[in-house]
Amino acid sequence: MTRKLTEEQIASIPSLKASKMSERKIAILFGVSRNCIRYHVDPKRDIDHRARTIKLKIKQRLDIIAFFGGKCIRCGYTDWRALQINHINGGGHADRKRYSTFYAFYRAILTGERSKDDLELLCANCNTIHGFELREKKKAGI
Ligand SMILES: [Zn+2]
Repeated sequence: MTRKLTEEQIASIPSLKASKMSERKIAILFGVSRNCIRYHVDPKRDIDHRARTIKLKIKQRLDIIAFFGGKCIRCGYTDWRALQINHINGGGHADRKRYSTFYAFYRAILTGERSKDDLELLCANCNTIHGFELREKKKAGI
């Protein structure tokens, strides 16, 4: 429904409305739905929507972090903003392909649909180091 509008198109919506062009005509002009035009033209709705989305994303992350114990298992770091789910044996790419969104991935873990046995919680630093170690092991043929 909400095909992406360019920044220029979004910026031009208020002036088109001021020139008495109807939402319907603007929608036709840009090849999007009327809802899309309303969404971009109503600043309050836009802000609310963004705030809700950010809140929901934070909650999803906090839920999954709590599920994995709330801290980096290597160094004990606890700031949720830098905690990441690590694939112990690699395979993160396959999971990203399998689950279209982080939320779908988190939900599959929380519901038990996807095993958590090959996953662990690491901070960004430890996760980067883990990536190096994994590549070193591969090179060495371990
Ligand atoms: Zn760490």
